[in-house]
Amino acid sequence: MPGLKELLKDEDKVTAGYCPDCDAVNLHPGPQGGMSTNFACFSCSARFNGAFVLESGRVELLFFHRTGKINEADRGLFSRQNLCDWLKT
Ligand SMILES: [Zn+2]
Repeated sequence: MPGLKELLKDEDKVTAGYCPDCDAVNLHPGPQGGMSTNFACFSCSARFNGAFVLESGRVELLFFHRTGKINEADRGLFSRQNLCDWLKT
């Protein structure tokens, strides 16, 4: 029987804090531009770009796409704070 995270859409995984590629709860926000935010998974190194909006107190992800992988040097660009904690601030 699939668990909750197997049933979630990729967008819902991200707002719940799960990496859509490896399911680790290890997403971190990075550089922002315009309305979009880069974020990366420190477990599988997947890198993403997406737009978050706060809708009636709930975080919604308007869109996101995969933008490759981060390397060790890129990690410094991303916050040590977890994406979920960052979205609540
Ligand atoms: Zn991952």
